[in-house]
Amino acid sequence: MSDPAPNAAERLEIIRAHMRRAALRFDPGGREVVLVAVSKTFGAAAIEPVIAAGQRIFGENRVQESLDKWPELKQRHADIELHLIGPLQTNKARDAVALFDVIETVDRDRIAAALAREMTAQHRRLPCLVQVNIGAEEQKAGISVAEALGFIGRCKGVHGLDIVGLMGIPPVEAAPGPYFALLKQLADAAGLAQVSMGMSGDFETAIAMGATHVRVGSAIFGARPAGMRR
Ligand SMILES: *Cc1c(COP(=O)(O)O)cnc(C)c1O
Repeated sequence: MSDPAPNAAERLEIIRAHMRRAALRFDPGGREVVLVAVSKTFGAAAIEPVIAAGQRIFGENRVQESLDKWPELKQRHADIELHLIGPLQTNKARDAVALFDVIETVDRDRIAAALAREMTAQHRRLPCLVQVNIGAEEQKAGISVAEALGFIGRCKGVHGLDIVGLMGIPPVEAAPGPYFALLKQLADAAGLAQVSMGMSGDFETAIAMGATHVRVGSAIFGARPAGMRR
């Protein structure tokens, strides 16, 4: 499969241009939207050129895979900000808190409690996002829309987490706009500033609906091997 453009720097520049244009549709002031480059399934050799092109914020969805490649990359590039964007098991909370800088997938009390415990133990207070199952899909992670506000309250009040925003993934087959609007509305209702939504295929729509962070993988790194998880 051919890449969308010849090199990482050019692909990043194209995506940033599309992001700027979409930001103007949401807000004539054209506020800055943060690009999280999703590097899952790609090794250091593919990631280094993207870092060299100026990208500093990356997303990964597996703790174990991240442990295999990011400690060394982070050592070489001290200003990397690594986001966990995949489901977390309580037995990986220690590793996750040690390696990641932002956790985007807090979605149940057990995980919230395990993360809080580890952050205290490691003296590392990470900003967190609550993942909301905006499409009410059985197979997807995330707290339900109905339970979201109560859960956000418990994350802050009971677990003492620093919740800064919401993250969501719309159903694959549906037009994503209404789901993005729902997540933005929930974030506003909860008084949370950050909204992480939109991927390679729909980040412009997400920005037009109020995303502050988009998570873009294949449009930067090229297609992942067929059959690999998204
Ligand atoms: C893989 C992944 C992305 C990026 O998907 P692309 O379609 O490659 O841009 C974004 N968010 C999450 C949670 C992912 O797992």
